[in-house]
Amino acid sequence: MESLPCLGCKGLCCGPVPVTENELKRIKKKIKTMPSKIRSELESQNRYFGTCIFYDINNDRCGIHSVRPEICRMFGYYKELVCFRNPELATKNMEPSDFKVYAGMLTIDFTWDDFK
Ligand code: SF4
Ligand code: SF4
Repeated sequence: MESLPCLGCKGLCCGPVPVTENELKRIKKKIKTMPSKIRSELESQNRYFGTCIFYDINNDRCGIHSVRPEICRMFGYYKELVCFRNPELATKNMEPSDFKVYAGMLTIDFTWDDFK
């Protein structure tokens, strides 16, 4: 699958995203098992207001990539989740089953304090 030209975007599309309870659990586990130096470096980065709390601006990538929420994986590939830098990639349609029961919004309802 062709991928998105994310390098250099500096988290442009990484704002608050909906998360499920299971996703929260996976993220918590990941944060807890991170080496403390890496965790505190990620936590203390200066982000723009509204940028995802886990965006790793120093390395220009998601700081929790392996456990990022499903909605982040889908972004750019669905007509409802278009990336303006490569809109042609958004070819799939979201089905009712793609919408989950969400626990809340990451970055708004859940912040770093919730993952310690
Ligand atoms: S999905 Fe699009 S807007 Fe988001 S980082 Fe990638 S290229 Fe940039
Ligand atoms: S979890 Fe990762 S991919 Fe999803 S919005 Fe946050 S930084 Fe971006």
